[in-house]
Amino acid sequence: MVEYAAAEATTPNRHRDRMRYDVEAVHSILDAGFLAHVSFTLADRPQLIPLAFGRDGEHLYMHTSSGSQLALAVRASGAEGFPAAVAVTHVDSLVLSRSAMHHSMDYRCVIAHGPLTYVADPAEQLHAYRVIIDHLVPGRADDCREPNPKENAQTAVFRLDLDRVAAKIRDHGLDEDPADLDLPHWAGVVPITTTRGPARPDTGQDTPAYLTKWLDAS
Ligand SMILES: Cc1cc2nc3c(=O)[nH]c(=O)nc-3n(C[C@H](O)[C@H](O)[C@H](O)COP(=O)(O)OP(=O)(O)OC[C@H]3O[C@@H](n4cnc5c(N)ncnc54)[C@H](O)[C@@H]3O)c2cc1C
Repeated sequence: MVEYAAAEATTPNRHRDRMRYDVEAVHSILDAGFLAHVSFTLADRPQLIPLAFGRDGEHLYMHTSSGSQLALAVRASGAEGFPAAVAVTHVDSLVLSRSAMHHSMDYRCVIAHGPLTYVADPAEQLHAYRVIIDHLVPGRADDCREPNPKENAQTAVFRLDLDRVAAKIRDHGLDEDPADLDLPHWAGVVPITTTRGPARPDTGQDTPAYLTKWLDAS
């Protein structure tokens, strides 16, 4: 099994038994999502921004308006990059315990630590757009118009190299105190699922094969 090295930045105080550093777990959690929450500090103020993302091997790509605060900060950071952390989270179940304190969730979560680096190379920018769009729905990048120069100028692309990254997974359901087992309260696990579709075509076109495949996979 290929693993990311556990680093101080990726080692929690609590529940280290739930941490996973293997590449397979990290990639599968990233690939099952398309929304990242990006945290960073600007002018001593903590910030958190949700962004679409795409993964290409050991790189995450994101983009924003070139006028956004994050874009300006990443661009100004040069080759060193801008410190940030990125989280991708899936909630698989609500865990409803007999006790208030043992309510929980089963989840899969990846946190990757930056830096975010600005992508200035036009070829890599175009590649990043395709990665982000194909991460949404595989095959989609070939079924849309490429960005024109004006759109490109309005957009900043960043890259985060997966290095200081780890997953945390909770998947064991209820965690009851033995003394609570005879309490009359309902207890159990409520699975949470995300469904896809049905797709609503804009102009009555047939659904393309890549989209049907993606819808059927949910
Ligand atoms: C959907 C969801 C709901 C949660 N709800 C709660 C809650 O209500 N209360 C609670 O105490 N905890 C909750 N957690 C767990 C929480 O995210 C932290 O893992 C936990 O609080 C551990 O804190 P710490 O101080 O030990 O970690 P820290 O020392 O703050 O973390 C150090 C590093 O460990 C890694 N790490 C920590 N947590 C995670 C994670 N979740 N996924 C991936 N890497 C991680 C990161 O790299 C982080 O920078 C939840 C997690 C998820 C995904």
